[in-house]
Amino acid sequence: MIPITRPTLPRFEEFEGVFREIMDSGQLTNGKYVGLLEDKMAGHLGANHIIAVSSCTLGLILTHQALKMSGEVIMPSFTFSATAHSLAWNSIKPVLTDSDPDSFNIDVELAETKINPRTSAILAVDIFGNPCDRQSLKDLAIKYGLKLVIDAAHGMGSLYGGEPLGGWGDAEVFSLSPTKVMVAGEGGLIATDDESLAFKLKKARNYGDPGNYNCEFAGLNARMSEFHAVIAIKSLEQLEENVKARNTIAEYYRESLSGIPGIKFQSIKENDRSSYKDFSLYLHEDFPLSRNDLSAKLLEKGIQTKPYFDPPIHKQTAYQPRSRSSDKLKTAEALSNNCISIPLYSHMPMSEAEYVSLTIKDIANGNLET
Ligand SMILES: *Cc1c(COP(=O)(O)O)cnc(C)c1O
Repeated sequence: MIPITRPTLPRFEEFEGVFREIMDSGQLTNGKYVGLLEDKMAGHLGANHIIAVSSCTLGLILTHQALKMSGEVIMPSFTFSATAHSLAWNSIKPVLTDSDPDSFNIDVELAETKINPRTSAILAVDIFGNPCDRQSLKDLAIKYGLKLVIDAAHGMGSLYGGEPLGGWGDAEVFSLSPTKVMVAGEGGLIATDDESLAFKLKKARNYGDPGNYNCEFAGLNARMSEFHAVIAIKSLEQLEENVKARNTIAEYYRESLSGIPGIKFQSIKENDRSSYKDFSLYLHEDFPLSRNDLSAKLLEKGIQTKPYFDPPIHKQTAYQPRSRSSDKLKTAEALSNNCISIPLYSHMPMSEAEYVSLTIKDIANGNLET
């Protein structure tokens, strides 16, 4: 079976000694390795302050809380559930917006039409690692006096205008969970240039405690452990190599599958780079099979796929009933119904990618003939 993804991990011998040192020291959390990871990431990402947390979801929840976001927040419906959950945990209403059919990211012009006096922020996402249009989103946020938070869960290793992500909006939040490109086991990183926000978030991940047990607000335990920080530091050392390997396979998929009718690829802008957290085919009516039939046939041939993201947020049970049911969210639904993520991981052998590509071609051609 060729899996949809696998974490590319450093060899155990590389951090065995450090794990032993942490165990011997007895300092399993709030120790030096989380601080070291934060320093290294501040150098790598385009932000002055990095706050390591136990997951991207908690990073988002605490960021919205610290920014005092409330009322309504505009976000795409075509994303992973955690983007919306981070708002729900702050009693904020997600205003679900349609996506752009080329970039698969939030449609910024449509987002503008949803702004009203209750709107406090925009929460954008880098879908599959394709950087969202940060400049337009920033312009919009400034024009209407809104906060801007970016769910950059997929964006570690991506480049926007040739630069690593992290420096846009009030904060960008990354994920280090095992299906993402850089892995800690579980973990997240909040990147921000706002010193007072960073200061607040360091308290927020520690129950809201400034250090004297007199909590200033209701925070959470969202600390990253020392072990996770060590794995993340090692994973950072491999990041560039891993993202390059993913881009090589993605290029191969694009070229080898381009002759098949009815397949559209996510468009990445010329000066940008996707981390290719996922590689997704967007099937159109010219394609001879439905997405689900293609997925079933690939599984028979030992190839795992995923229907990311199906259902979209606005169709999920947790977000019913929708108050703005007049909105059709046509592109989000088309993407949800017709996108299929095919296997891609950093240490994937080219022979596997060739097998995946050939098998898709065979299935498509076979169905064209019948
Ligand atoms: C994975 C993911 C998250 C959540 O990250 P965790 O670290 O697992 O909490 C949030 N947003 C998106 C878009 C994701 O894919």
